[in-house]
Amino acid sequence: MNERYDIAIVGTGPAGLSAAINGKIRNKNVILFGNKQLSNKLVKAPKINNYLGYPNVTGEELKEAFVNHIEDMEIDIVQERINAIYAMGDFFSLMVNDKAYEAKTVIIATGMEFTKPLKGEEEFLGRGVGYCATCDAPLYKGKKVTIVGYNKEAEEEANFVSELASKLYYIPMYKGNYNLNTNVEIIKDRPLEIIGGSMVNKIRLNKVELDTDGVFILKDSISPGQLVPGLELENEHIKVDRNMITNIEGCFAAGDCTGKPYQYLKAAGEGQVAALNAVAYIDSKK
Ligand SMILES: Cc1cc2nc3c(=O)[nH]c(=O)nc-3n(C[C@H](O)[C@H](O)[C@H](O)COP(=O)(O)OP(=O)(O)OC[C@H]3O[C@@H](n4cnc5c(N)ncnc54)[C@H](O)[C@@H]3O)c2cc1C
Repeated sequence: MNERYDIAIVGTGPAGLSAAINGKIRNKNVILFGNKQLSNKLVKAPKINNYLGYPNVTGEELKEAFVNHIEDMEIDIVQERINAIYAMGDFFSLMVNDKAYEAKTVIIATGMEFTKPLKGEEEFLGRGVGYCATCDAPLYKGKKVTIVGYNKEAEEEANFVSELASKLYYIPMYKGNYNLNTNVEIIKDRPLEIIGGSMVNKIRLNKVELDTDGVFILKDSISPGQLVPGLELENEHIKVDRNMITNIEGCFAAGDCTGKPYQYLKAAGEGQVAALNAVAYIDSKK
């Protein structure tokens, strides 16, 4: 059997990190998923004036302080993107492609994605639209694929898919240098709509229309409702009570994903509440 963790935390922003240190202090076996950069929203902040005890800090400096703190407590970041979380009764299965991690409780701390879905994105989800290119790449062997990439990590997925697909279009939604295989065609245009019949067959951009069998939309985070089937949402946010408990037993949420205001300290505070209640939940089952 896989090792079963006490608390699996998804997200390495202030909410997830605060949950991780509090879970660890309470002697729980914690696994933390995210990335070594911690959070784009953290490193991009030019000046932060409302983080108690750190006046005038830059996002980069606060990130360094967070990194030192978790390293000090021997908390590792597992650099994996969780694609789906299934409630299995008395534990959760967290999926990364075809690999699964097991945990007694889950804390969702995935932040909030500000960009709206494309027209047709939700309609064709599972019928040519996907959020994990590497997971579904084999389905597109010898076919045309389009990747709408919102971050640098999407380039790695694009390179992998380009080895299987007959044609790969990459639509970058950010500026910079793109580290892509030579057979990837970069299209600098704004995507507007995904079109198809029973399956996707085109993507319409501002200036051109591309024939495509699949469209992958690769953002920092996906909608929590898609991440955890059955999770109750309220105005695009995860519905939680004062104890950061969701409608699914053993599943907690913290940070921007639970609603406004979008602030570091609110996120860190909620991460702490979520962790302490996850601990209480685990102990109540003993
Ligand atoms: C430019 C800018 C300036 C800001 N300035 C301030 C400020 O001065 N003061 C203030 O209080 N707030 C500020 N904010 C808001 C603040 O950044 C957010 O409120 C805060 O980062 C929310 O923390 P979080 O932990 O909820 O989520 P995030 O910081 O968004 O972190 C979520 C993390 O989870 C990861 N993740 C998502 N899905 C998955 C998955 N499936 N698997 C693995 N990992 C996943 C993401 O990659 C990300 O790293 C600013 C935001 C921006 C963009």
